[in-house]
Amino acid sequence: MNGFKEMNRNELAAQLQFFKDIGVESLAVGAVREAQARERAASSGEAQARERAASRNDGLGADRAPLQDLESVRAEIGDCQRCKLAPKRTNIVFGSGNPSAELVFVGEAPGYDEDQQGLPFVGRAGQLLTKIIESINLKREDVYICNVLKCRPPENRNPEPDEVAACNPFLKKQLAAIRPKIVCCLGTFAAQTVIQTAAPISRLRGKFFDLDGIRVIATFHPAYLLRSPEKKREVWEDMKQIRAELFRLRS
Ligand code: URA
Repeated sequence: MNGFKEMNRNELAAQLQFFKDIGVESLAVGAVREAQARERAASSGEAQARERAASRNDGLGADRAPLQDLESVRAEIGDCQRCKLAPKRTNIVFGSGNPSAELVFVGEAPGYDEDQQGLPFVGRAGQLLTKIIESINLKREDVYICNVLKCRPPENRNPEPDEVAACNPFLKKQLAAIRPKIVCCLGTFAAQTVIQTAAPISRLRGKFFDLDGIRVIATFHPAYLLRSPEKKREVWEDMKQIRAELFRLRS
């Protein structure tokens, strides 16, 4: 049981509650120890260098007045016909949540349920996302949730470059309007688009990047977690980093 000694009771209770909430049914003590080692590594060297770079909060982030509010970004999108997804969509899925959120989650694109309801992350992956948000003592209403693409790709295929080119300016405007402290990218596609890299999610997750004064972190997509539940532990590590960073940025 040595691995558990390094956590205080509250941290251990929070971790076990998270695993329970997101459906992890059994736990190897070795995995807890590994997670703690990763957490210690993350708080040293490389992470500190990134933090110093990111403390130049001079762009889209919370210290800058928004040029446009969310409603006017939505109005600018209008009945969008800018790309080939328009004719097949049922609803534009703009985003939902707190327009002054400190934390924004960015997914890939609406799926069937989202297209039907016009709201992001309302299907099975969305239910898991809600639990992930609650694991750091936030509610869905506290955060803002949106996607890179606002329209559903047919059969949920991957977004194509012309679709991203048409839609990404509106994601940028949403972030500029909200001015969150932290953006959490869900999955490869959102991470690569927001961080502007071709690196795989396995390399991107768990680290903070600086995007014009906003702290950006990536984690696995909830839909991937539904298929690969063993990855939930890494998501918990990422969520703890987000929680700690929010505390740090508020103080
Ligand atoms: N997957 C996403 O990336 N976004 C949603 O809104 C729903 C599922």
